[in-house]
Amino acid sequence: MVNYKDLGLVNTRDMFARAIKGGYAIPAFNFNNMEQMQAIIQAAVETKSPVILQVSKGARNYANQTLLRYMAEGAVQYAKEMGCEHPEIVLHLDHGDSFELCKSCVDLGFSSVMIDGSHLPYEENVELTRRVVEYAHQYDVTVEGELGVLAGVEDEVCAEHHTYTRPEEVVDFTSKTGCDSLAISIGTSHGAYKFKPEQCHIDPATGRLVPPPLAFDVLDGVMKELPGFPIVLHGSSSVPQEYVDMINQFGGKLEAAIGIPEDELRKAAKSAVCKINIDSDSRLAMTAAIRKVFVEKPAEFDPRKYLGPARDEMKKLYMHKIVNVLGSNDKLAK
Ligand SMILES: [Zn+2]
Repeated sequence: MVNYKDLGLVNTRDMFARAIKGGYAIPAFNFNNMEQMQAIIQAAVETKSPVILQVSKGARNYANQTLLRYMAEGAVQYAKEMGCEHPEIVLHLDHGDSFELCKSCVDLGFSSVMIDGSHLPYEENVELTRRVVEYAHQYDVTVEGELGVLAGVEDEVCAEHHTYTRPEEVVDFTSKTGCDSLAISIGTSHGAYKFKPEQCHIDPATGRLVPPPLAFDVLDGVMKELPGFPIVLHGSSSVPQEYVDMINQFGGKLEAAIGIPEDELRKAAKSAVCKINIDSDSRLAMTAAIRKVFVEKPAEFDPRKYLGPARDEMKKLYMHKIVNVLGSNDKLAK
């Protein structure tokens, strides 16, 4: 049993309370490898932002959950070495799918876990989430639950259609489970293909696809039922079209990849939404930068020469999200 506090990590409770009060959101970035982790921490330190490092099922399968946990411990020391005396770094399990998995992460030193029972019948979701909360709270680990189903594909989380969260269920769910935050479904979606072209219209000025708007009425309904309660948005990458273009220009083949407009995320960040999950955008930044090196310098074979530029590009993206979209810069407690 390792307690996250001994690793220098923090849970989400205090940072979410401040984010709701201050009208901004904390970035939750997924990580799978060292370069991504370095880029996230460099961006968080330079902007003085709290940050959530998320570990998905795919990341655990790819990189090993024990190794990722030690990397997060290293991340705290790395931030301090860069001059951040009191970094606020959360190590969060993304889409935990069983009590046993959540327990193993709590025992390993995670400071926050998500238990995703959103695909289960309501009462089973309540029961599973309640059990995880009961265990996690013994160690002051915070728990994210989910109501409603997001469309799209994220590692092994996959659904054809979304089902919006029902505001009439949220009070019952949060009071019965005791969860610390709630992921809701208002039309965001996992992956880089969030919308089918037929769901979009074309912007005459740019010729780009414009996705349907998020269901802010559902978010308003949830906030009315649960004033001041921390809300989470998954599947909130914007799929920057400059990266899609760059990938395609350098030999890639991404067709009609489309995300959530940053204006909508800015609006959400000002509300009770205090955690916004971003994964696909950093995948796109990394792929675009690597493809560019491969095309422009075909003789290059030192991985540092393409992973380095990829790291720089991801860092640029993370800083942009923190400063220009979520507004979590300069929000460290001390
Ligand atoms: Zn998700």
